[in-house]
Amino acid sequence: MAATDPVEAPRIADFARYRVEPGERIALADHDPGDTGPYASAEEAGAELGGLVERIADFQERLYAEERRAVLVVLQGIDAAGKDSTVKHVFREANPQGCRVYAFKQPSREEQAHDFLWRYHQDTPAAGMIHVFNRSHYEDVLVVRVRELEPEPVWRSRYDSINDFERMLVREGTTVLKFFLHISKEEQLRKFQERLEREDKHWKFSASDVKERRRWEDYERAYEDALNCTSTPWAPWYMIPADNRWYRNLVVARIVTATFEALDPQYPPAPDPSDLEQLDFS
Ligand code: AMP
Ligand code: MG
Repeated sequence: MAATDPVEAPRIADFARYRVEPGERIALADHDPGDTGPYASAEEAGAELGGLVERIADFQERLYAEERRAVLVVLQGIDAAGKDSTVKHVFREANPQGCRVYAFKQPSREEQAHDFLWRYHQDTPAAGMIHVFNRSHYEDVLVVRVRELEPEPVWRSRYDSINDFERMLVREGTTVLKFFLHISKEEQLRKFQERLEREDKHWKFSASDVKERRRWEDYERAYEDALNCTSTPWAPWYMIPADNRWYRNLVVARIVTATFEALDPQYPPAPDPSDLEQLDFS
C-alpha cells in the first residue's frame, strides 16, 4: 500500500459542519437529529443521491484498478439508527468485487480470548478495496461500557488504542471515514414500531433492543465520550443527522464522494509501447 506521513485526513469542505473537530467537546443534545440542511424534500435529495452513488461506483473502480490505497468506512449508531439502510443505499452501485461489508455482532469465544482489536484488524481492507464496518471496534467502548462487560480502566484505555490503530492504518495507506448516525429517541421508537408492524421488518426486531433502549442516556454518554476522544486529524468523526433517512443517505454519500475526490484514485497508465511491440496478437 502507499504509505503517507504526516497523517492528516483530507479536509472536506462539504458538510464540514458535521465533522467533530479534533479536540472539540461535542454534546449530542446540541445537534438536531432532524436537521435536513438546505434540503426541503426527499425527492430533491433522492435525485441528487442517484448521481452520487454512480460517482462512488466510478471512484471505487478506479481505487480497485490503482491498487495502492484502501478505504475503511465505519458506521456506528444506536439500534435502528439506519446502519444497514445506509449500506444498502450509499454503496448500491459499487462492484461487490471491490467493496465488502462486515457486520460485527457479539464476539465469539475465540475473539474474546484475544485483544479487542484482533477481530477487526483481520477485516481491514487490502489495497484497492473499500470495506464498510457495520458496527466496529467502537462497540468495545460503547456496548462494553454500557453493559459493564469490562471495568472502566479497560474500556477507557481503548480510546488510545483505537487512535493508535487508526493512525497506523492511515499511515499505511487506508483512509478511515467514520460516521455516527444520530437519531432521536422518538425516531428509534417509530422504527421499532415499524419493525413490529411490517412483515418484511419483523426479523430486525429484537426484544433485547428494547432493553438497551432503557439505557438511552448511558449510550448517549458513551457515544459523546467516544466521539470526543477519537475524532483525530487522521480519522475524524462525522455526526450525521439521521432522523430522515433520505437526508442521512445524502450526507453520507456526499462526504464519501468528497473524500474520493480528494484521494483522486487513478487508472494505471497504458502499457509501455515497447512491451506491446513484443506481443504477438495474431
Ligand atoms: P445487530 O447489529 O442488530 O445485528 O446487533 C448486533 C449486536 O451485537 C448488538 O447488540 C451489539 O451491541 C452487539 N455487539 C457488537 N459488537 C460487540 C462487542 N464487541 N461486544 C459485545 N457486543 C457486541
Ligand atoms: Mg439490531
